[in-house]
Amino acid sequence: MYDVIIIGGGVSGAACARELSRYQASVCVLEKEEDVCCGTSKANSAIVHAGYDAVPGSLMAKLNVKGNEMMEQLSKDLDFPFRRIGSLVICLNEEDMPGLEELYERGMENGVPGIRIISGEEVKAMEPNITDSVYAALYAPSAGIVCPFNLNIALAENAYENGVEFQFDTEVEDIVKLDEGYELHTSRGTYQARYVVNAAGVYADKFHNMVSEEKIHITPRRGDYCLLDKSAGNHVSRTIFSLPTKYGKGVLVTPTVHGNLLVGPTAIDIEDKEGTNTTREGLDEVISKAGQNVKDLPMRQVITSFAGLRAHEDGTEFIIGEPEDAKGFIDCAGIESPGLTSCPAIGEMVAELLRDKMGLEKKENFIATRKGILDPDTLTKEERAELIRKEPAYGNIICRCEMITEGEIIDAIRRPLGAKSLDGVKRRTRAGMGRCQSGFCSPRTMEILARELGVNMADITKSGGTSRLVVGTNKDRL
Ligand SMILES: Cc1cc2nc3c(=O)[nH]c(=O)nc-3n(C[C@H](O)[C@H](O)[C@H](O)COP(=O)(O)OP(=O)(O)OC[C@H]3O[C@@H](n4cnc5c(N)ncnc54)[C@H](O)[C@@H]3O)c2cc1C
Repeated sequence: MYDVIIIGGGVSGAACARELSRYQASVCVLEKEEDVCCGTSKANSAIVHAGYDAVPGSLMAKLNVKGNEMMEQLSKDLDFPFRRIGSLVICLNEEDMPGLEELYERGMENGVPGIRIISGEEVKAMEPNITDSVYAALYAPSAGIVCPFNLNIALAENAYENGVEFQFDTEVEDIVKLDEGYELHTSRGTYQARYVVNAAGVYADKFHNMVSEEKIHITPRRGDYCLLDKSAGNHVSRTIFSLPTKYGKGVLVTPTVHGNLLVGPTAIDIEDKEGTNTTREGLDEVISKAGQNVKDLPMRQVITSFAGLRAHEDGTEFIIGEPEDAKGFIDCAGIESPGLTSCPAIGEMVAELLRDKMGLEKKENFIATRKGILDPDTLTKEERAELIRKEPAYGNIICRCEMITEGEIIDAIRRPLGAKSLDGVKRRTRAGMGRCQSGFCSPRTMEILARELGVNMADITKSGGTSRLVVGTNKDRL
């Protein structure tokens, strides 16, 4: 029997796992996919929100501001990309000023540092491509951008390094209450734990409702995006938001930490918890709304589109804690935006709650830092030459768009909780994320995966399960 089982390896589950790994406890993460970061954590705006949106006093507000504060040190400790670039909420006319002022007031109450309302002229000086009709804006210097994949992977790798077990391709199907703890029936056998953390994203209502009579309901709220080429990455230097509506923060335009430009998302309520396909209507909406605040957007530079699902709970609040009637079951549910921002604080809150309940002692040998995959671009010419001399794989470019070397791909596969699929390599290294969207590098990355994992090319998948890429051979001799 484990002390704690965490359902889900997204940012919430991984952050809980990492924070729990500070303590002397046996912890296991059960993930239905073949890797971490396969749910909502891989498809979002990647903004580290400042914290002026959430209702003052709410858990969302508290954990957003705290998570934002924690992110910088965490990015240093765990070596993932984060940049504090600031954000602007654009107000286009005087009539909308009360909405902007309300956000400012909320920000002040929530303790957001440095926010202020600035004039249209000031905005234009900061962002030359902002619409000429800008009237004013709410400027939040503490907002930032992060690499969501590396945040999630870094948290999981560090948790693993500190003794947390991860079981992939393991779908939790049923939960049964025992005299002490819970039994989890999965697609790969039965697991028992004294405590369960429910971090199952859009499925968190399903597990909560299995153990509690106080039912919750999560609606998958889809957000469609267009990602633009790096040639458009400097079009704005901060995250540009519209005034929020009851469906969320509206269509934003933002640079990404890797130098692309991201435009989106929509907010469309759907029923299918796996419905991450984009739709024509959704993308048309993104394109039509994107130009409201930013002029001359080079939409011909779109290199891909994608969609993510917000886990929208009816109460629009994070549900974190133990239901009255399900002792030992800790929810981490309704983690919609700003969940990515809040995850360091969510992990801390859940771990402290369990520490107090279980009387956990700190580990003496907790490893607080982790090193990411070496990016040869960060080296001097001489250092790079030396690296290639020692390890020639760093001289072999596999992904030409993102200039990713064989050395980086090998590292992604061999490191703890390493990549097992094409998407796993992509999320860890960016191989395949560039302009050609893996047109050139897929077969070469597959060859490396097959060689490193000691399997056949035909067994390499895009993202685990049945997503095989090679379905047969051609030119077979009869
Ligand atoms: C369009 C959009 C934009 C967003 N933008 C931002 C933003 O800019 N900033 C921000 O802070 N937040 C943002 N968010 C919110 C943020 O992405 C989420 O809050 C966060 O990623 C949720 O992480 P999670 O770990 O709770 O869920 P997930 O990442 O979905 O992880 C849940 C995991 O549970 C697993 N799982 C589910 N069922 C089972 C099962 N039966 N057995 C085993 N495993 C299971 C899944 O496979 C998945 O890996 C956005 C979200 C969306 C959709």
